[in-house]
Amino acid sequence: MIVMKFGGTSVANYEAITRMVSIVRGKLDEKPVVVVSALSKVTDLLYRISDSAAARNEDEAKSLLAQLRERHIGLSRELLADDGALCKASCDKVNEICDALDSFVSAVCAVGELSARSKAIIISNGEYLSSNIICFAMNAAGIRTNYMDARKMIITDADYMKGEPDMDAISAAVPGIVAEAYKDADAVITQGFVSATASGEPTVLGRGGSDYSASLIGMAIDASRIEIWTDVDGVRTADPRRVSNTRCLDRISFEEAAEMAHFGAKVLHPLTIEPAVRKNIPIYVLNSMNPSGEGTAILQSAFIEDGVKSVSCKENIRVINIFSTKMINTSGFLKKVFEIFSEYKVSVDLISTSEANISVTVDASQNIDAVVSALSGFADVYVDEDKSQVSVIGKNIVNLKGLLEQTFAPLRECKIYMISQGASYVNISFVVDRPVLNDVVQQIHRYLFEV
Ligand code: ADP
Ligand code: ASP
Ligand code: MG
Repeated sequence: MIVMKFGGTSVANYEAITRMVSIVRGKLDEKPVVVVSALSKVTDLLYRISDSAAARNEDEAKSLLAQLRERHIGLSRELLADDGALCKASCDKVNEICDALDSFVSAVCAVGELSARSKAIIISNGEYLSSNIICFAMNAAGIRTNYMDARKMIITDADYMKGEPDMDAISAAVPGIVAEAYKDADAVITQGFVSATASGEPTVLGRGGSDYSASLIGMAIDASRIEIWTDVDGVRTADPRRVSNTRCLDRISFEEAAEMAHFGAKVLHPLTIEPAVRKNIPIYVLNSMNPSGEGTAILQSAFIEDGVKSVSCKENIRVINIFSTKMINTSGFLKKVFEIFSEYKVSVDLISTSEANISVTVDASQNIDAVVSALSGFADVYVDEDKSQVSVIGKNIVNLKGLLEQTFAPLRECKIYMISQGASYVNISFVVDRPVLNDVVQQIHRYLFEV
């Protein structure tokens, strides 16, 4: 069996879904488990709907809900124009999902309070809409496809907006559900991104989480391959939206891919690699607009050469600088500091220390108020805003002579706030001012990959 995940742009509209269905058709003998995202931009729309509801702006919420319904009804009609019965069934399903969502949003508007639980319920509707329509479209195209509810398969804790998967529960649940759905089908389909607690309360896996869903399902069914179908030719030497002249990488290691994703390469959700590594399942990143391309294979490290593979970046981060004279000659200071980060669930990317100072970087999307206030109880804390983090990533790059010089030579004029090189030998990261980020990434890319 294989897992085939299609992201938002790969299911954006009639043309994309038609292409997607033909890609799946070409792999039916490998028994695909298809995982789909919401149509492109639909999750953003659902976020706006939940914001309007929280602000009790019912008129705005209603107008956005109408857009949501219209787009999915329009798509059902286009895709299923030749099959009246399936077209009606698809439109009925869209209306059923949208009716339930309208009532839910009205209730939130009435209460004027949006819990994380309610928000997760609202934003998971994009995947329910897309997976239902695509299931009908696959059947209309002659591929007998059965539908599976991801909430019965991807079991998480009760962190509603960023559920942590329970690997054992997922491994126990998924194979039976997939086998049952495959009894009378050529393919099976489910939603990415959405999940639930063991007692069935809806959760989601965090933005971009459909990649993670695919890899969790791959792990659970011992898939022979996980395919991530997206809008670029594979994993590249940098984000093509930021740097021109990037190159597609034929193959990279699990570790390199995990570091790239963790340090900002949006092409994969940061946690995608881990479930695949558990079962040593190769991941392929492929372009749904160019299905015959080779894409990028993500494999065990033994099959991968040493060397620099990419420059990743996180555009908006903060540096938290913690100063304390008590740190000198005392054990336990670091423990105290990191217990606070752990207590408030703020995750740290880079760390550097000197005798009386610890500096850490955190993604700016995280709320750090509670952490700063707790740290301020025993240390002086300064937060640098509007910083960016750049990471040069590749297997055993520490062994490359001259790499530091090559990386930093183009940055002679640039202020560098922090540098960190992990013991993993896979990445060298540093922090710069946000306004110079694009320039820095482009210059380093030119130096490392274009000369
Ligand atoms: P999907 O909707 O298919 O999940 P995403 O938008 O989440 O697609 O991810 C694909 C995007 O990731 C690309 O369009 C590209 O701009 C971005 N990206 C960032 N870094 C890289 C990289 N190193 N290689 C390829 N794409 C990258
Ligand atoms: N639809 C979700 C998002 O936009 C999940 C995904 O696309 O992977 O974040
Ligand atoms: Mg994505």
